[in-house]
Amino acid sequence: MNIILFGPPAAGKGTQAKRLVAERGMVQLSTGDMLRASIASGSELGQEVKAIMDRGDLVTDAIVVRLIEARLPEADAGGGAIFDGFPRTLAQAEALDAMLAARGSQIDRVIRLKVDDTALIERVATRFAEQGRADDNPDSFKVRLGAYNAQTAPLLPYYEAQGKLVDVDGMGTIEAVASAINAQLDL
Ligand code: AMP
Repeated sequence: MNIILFGPPAAGKGTQAKRLVAERGMVQLSTGDMLRASIASGSELGQEVKAIMDRGDLVTDAIVVRLIEARLPEADAGGGAIFDGFPRTLAQAEALDAMLAARGSQIDRVIRLKVDDTALIERVATRFAEQGRADDNPDSFKVRLGAYNAQTAPLLPYYEAQGKLVDVDGMGTIEAVASAINAQLDL
């Protein structure tokens, strides 16, 4: 089974993806994690994307599609993928469908975590204080939220039209959100 965890930045996608990996043996494919690893390694790609990420903008579709494509074999071997933070544009969603179709696979479900903007802003302020992630500063976060609303939220009708979109209340505790996601996956 391949799923997309969908939602604005700081909605809890990464937390829930890691739990699903531990409980279900699926493979988490987070483009944000891959890009941060490139920055940490000092690679050419890392140097190219650092300023873009720090200010909260999206990197190009070509970069993230290439990163995901390289990791799809792992997901095949591991019983399915949890796409976390990808796709974020319609071009990425179409590329993902094509890459999966070429492997005889598909997206089975898109789980949208719904969280109020005020709660997101509070969460990210706490995360910034605790972890100091550059793009969690208030100015960058505003840009990230803007990118989500302008470029990523328009994907919702794309997946709704395919009958794959399910909404989960992302405002509860980690456990409550986890059981709501599990209920959708076990249908
Ligand atoms: P995330 O950890 O998913 O919030 O991603 C952190 C940052 O990485 C984003 O703000 C973007 O700059 C970049 N990024 C991650 N995934 C994507 C994607 N699918 N498309 C474009 N940029 C991305």
